Parts: sequence; structure tokens; C-alpha cells
Amino acid sequence: MSASSLATPTANKLQGKVALITGGASGIGEASVKLFTRYGAKVVIADVQDDLGQALCKELGSSATVSYVHCDVTKESDVKNAVDFSVSEYGQLDIMFCNAGISPSLLHTSIFDIEKSHLEKIFDVNVCGAFLGAKHAARVMIPAKAGSIIFTASVAAVIGVEGPLAYTCSKHAVVGMTNHLCMDLGKHGIRVNCISPFLVQTPMMDSAMGSVVDRKQAAEWLSAAANLKGVALEADDVAEAAAFLGSDESKYVSGLNLVVDGGYSRVNPIIT
Ligand code: NAD
Repeated sequence: MSASSLATPTANKLQGKVALITGGASGIGEASVKLFTRYGAKVVIADVQDDLGQALCKELGSSATVSYVHCDVTKESDVKNAVDFSVSEYGQLDIMFCNAGISPSLLHTSIFDIEKSHLEKIFDVNVCGAFLGAKHAARVMIPAKAGSIIFTASVAAVIGVEGPLAYTCSKHAVVGMTNHLCMDLGKHGIRVNCISPFLVQTPMMDSAMGSVVDRKQAAEWLSAAANLKGVALEADDVAEAAAFLGSDESKYVSGLNLVVDGGYSRVNPIIT
């Protein structure tokens, strides 16, 4: 291998890249915004929580490197606008991290407790929102003949998760979209991957568990359920996986479901 074909050094692995991160105002998205900027990327945060997104921009400093745009991923005009804003503000779009997602309560539900409208609500954000992000990113990446699209799936896309049926179905769909799009967009030089994290204590997880247990109990439950004992999965760990998939370190990786679960799904067929 010639030296010139090696990836850039880790410290600035995203230097020169522009990333758009949906759901970037909180949790895994927020950790990714911080890490991507640390690795040298220019980042656009797209979210519906305007106060949090703008505060994060302020915390990270200059609009020359990070900006916020209001974007409800279920609205095609918002997603189109966020992609166009990234290009007009920073000249290009290299990484589209379709990370925004919602989860219902983790209370166990039987198929008879769920209405079709509940599935539609979860799918609208988790599946259709990811689809719209990929579609509009591809629109600007195809002429550039390069790009990395990353989805956040879940360990619920790898194994069955007792309880949130709609969420599990939606995340399986995200893996399916990854498998399809890596073929569809690969011929244009665009890589498509997804990440499947184990449970991470974020605001989403707090509220999903909030109906079952309090925050302290949730932390204890997560630590007891984890496979890698003594190591808690943090949003930063998922952000590192996203940075890898966005960087040239993974330049021949496409169609991957990068499972970040400490081996959990290999030894636990179902979460109880
Ligand atoms: P979070 O609630 O902290 O962050 C999700 C972000 O998405 C929020 O900022 C929210 O405002 C935003 N969002 C929600 N609906 C939106 C919409 N319609 N348009 C734009 N933004 C919207 O939760 P998180 O845990 O960081 O979740 C991030 C992703 O990780 C989700 O896709 C989630 O399903 C996935 N995930 C989370 C866990 C976990 O345990 N926390 C595990 C596996 C996968």
C-alpha cells in the first residue's frame, strides 16, 4: 500500500469534511456533534429542539465550524432545506448522519395494545425520517461521486426486544434500508452503513424507561443488563463508531450494521 492511500491521522480524521447530524441536539447526536467537530469536521445540527441545538452551537463556538438548522425529519421540505443549508453554508456535504429517532415506553405491550397509528408515528420519524435524510443527501452526493450516509438503528434491530414492538420493527427497517441503499448508491461512490447501539442513558432512554423505573434504577438496570461487565456504554462510544464510518478510515466499508453492544446480542436472544 502506498503511503498516499492511507487514511488521515486519527486526530483530524474528519478534517475537510462537512457533516449533517439529525437529532444532533441531544444524546447520541449531541455527542457526535462534539466529537465530529473535535475531529475537524464542519457540522450542521438538525433538530426540532431549537433551544438545545442553538445552545450547543454557542457552546462549541464559531459559526464557521458549527451551525444549527430547525429540521423535523418527518417533513421533506425541512430535510431538503437542511441539506441545502449545509451545502450553501459550507460548500459540500460529505457525511449525512440520520440519527433522529423516537422510542415509545419500554412497558411491555401486547400486539392487542397497539394501534396502527402508533406504528405510523414511530415509523414516520425512525424510518421515513431516515429515508428522507438519505434521499436528499444522495441528491447532492451523487454529483460529488462520494459521501457517507449513516443511520442509527439499534440492538433492537439485531435481536427481539420485549416490549416496544413498533420500535423494534422500525429499526429492523433501518437495517433493511442500509442493505438496499449500499447497493443502490454504491455505484455513485456513496457508502451507506448503520450503527446498532445497546442501551445508552440519554434523554430518550430516560423517558422510555421513566414510565417503568426512575433514573437511578434505570442506570442500575442498564449496568446489570450489559454484557461487558464494568463498562457502561456511553453516547461517546456510539459517536466514535459514527466518526469511523464518516471518515476515510472506513473508505471500503459499506452495507455494515456496526453493532455497538459489548457482545450483548451474541449472548442474549431477548431482553427481559
Ligand atoms: P435523544 O432523545 O437524546 O435524541 C434524539 C434526538 O432526536 C432529540 O434531540 C430529538 O429532539 C430528535 N428528534 C426526535 N424527533 C425528531 C424529528 N421528527 N425531527 C428531528 N429531530 C427529532 O435520544 P438518543 O438516545 O440519543 O437517540 C438517538 C438515536 O439513537 C435514535 O435513533 C434512537 O432510536 C437510537 N438509539 C438509542 C438508544 C439508547 O439506548 N438511547 C439505543 C439504540 C438506538
